[in-house]
Amino acid sequence: SGGHVVVVGGGYGGATVAKYLRMWSEGRVSVTLIERNTEFVSCPMSNLVIGGLKNMADITISYDNLRTRWGVKVITDEVLALDASKRTISTARNGVIAYDRVVLSPGIDFMSERIGGLAGNEERIPHAWKAGPQTVVLRQQLQDMKDGGVFAMHIPKAPYRCPPGPYERACMVANYLRKEKPKSKVLVLDSNGEIQSKKALFTKAFEGYKGMIEYMPNNELRSVNAATRTAELDFEKVKADVLNVIPPMRAGNIATQSGLPLINDRWVDVEWLGYEARGVPGVHVIGDALFPAPTMPKSGHMANQQAKVVAAAIINLLAGQAPNPTPVVMNTCYSFVDEKNAVHVASVHQYDDVKKQPMPVSGAGGVSVAANEIEGKFAHAWAQNIWADMLT
Ligand code: FAD
Repeated sequence: SGGHVVVVGGGYGGATVAKYLRMWSEGRVSVTLIERNTEFVSCPMSNLVIGGLKNMADITISYDNLRTRWGVKVITDEVLALDASKRTISTARNGVIAYDRVVLSPGIDFMSERIGGLAGNEERIPHAWKAGPQTVVLRQQLQDMKDGGVFAMHIPKAPYRCPPGPYERACMVANYLRKEKPKSKVLVLDSNGEIQSKKALFTKAFEGYKGMIEYMPNNELRSVNAATRTAELDFEKVKADVLNVIPPMRAGNIATQSGLPLINDRWVDVEWLGYEARGVPGVHVIGDALFPAPTMPKSGHMANQQAKVVAAAIINLLAGQAPNPTPVVMNTCYSFVDEKNAVHVASVHQYDDVKKQPMPVSGAGGVSVAANEIEGKFAHAWAQNIWADMLT
């Protein structure tokens, strides 16, 4: 037999690695994928749901093809613990499951306790930084907001999931308000000193909203008052009608609570040929949960690419061979600035044998010259293609 791989998390990284392990091993490796949700809901494109341009059905996909077409055993369950020395994981409802190798792609969890008054108030003050019920809550709050209201959002310090995502969200919210509630305001309270991705392009996009979007850098949120929806900053308080706080975050709990090596107490330290957690044989970690290599974003595209490197590495390792010594991964992140026009940033990361990590390839990639409609079409196609690549 080709061995048994357990994959924890059926998101961008996990669904991809499960499918590619089955495909590239021609069915020899058996794969169990454990995901707490019954269906996949995409974060990419979820800002368009918040802006009223798409609905939840457009970003929700079943795991059926992974089961029937690819022979992945998909289990809906919560993984509670990992025992790397025994090579087992334990689950809430399916007991203990043994593996030859495990891939963790659990995404992120929030450190809500870092912002006073936030923990437990996610219904009043949604993050909508995991797509699903929170996306619906934030969309509903925006629809219920009066014309002339204030939508305030908070961005945590980098590195966080999806560097351009908050700025795309500001644009999608403003695009909706400009049409439906033109007296309203969008306040972007950024913990960082500047826009974290595609700065010139987003600066221009914000200007296009003619004063509706106010960008406020160096504004780290200390606490919130959930009852009044007030954001409490160092020197001022901002009262909002809709308050969207993206809290500080770290690797998903299963990765931070299993004794894996962490950097900054948040992200898993891996070696970059097979993405094994350093010093923990048999445990591979991909996606947002990683401590990123230089300039590597926490993106769905990157998680999908890392998944393929790891699928190939695991097939080699299970056959007693070394992983490919020169893996390359790439990334493209599109962001919508209004209902039709989008911008992109792209990069290529090649494993560097001296630095022992992927390094950006100079001259490869780049950013859009200007927002345009063709890139808007490419952005929709990007989503359709990557969903098909993961789940069809
Ligand atoms: P996820 O895709 O979040 O998958 C993790 C999965 O693990 C989840 O389904 C979760 O339920 C499951 N899980 C976690 N712990 C357990 C457990 N203990 N037991 C069972 N299941 C568990 N990226 C792009 O490339 N392009 C974009 O345009 C883009 N736009 C974005 C817009 C927004 C608003 C946001 C929030 C993100 C965006 N991203 C984008 C980033 C992208 O969503 C993430 O980088 C990507 O999802 C990371 O993949 P992952 O596999 O690490 O985590």
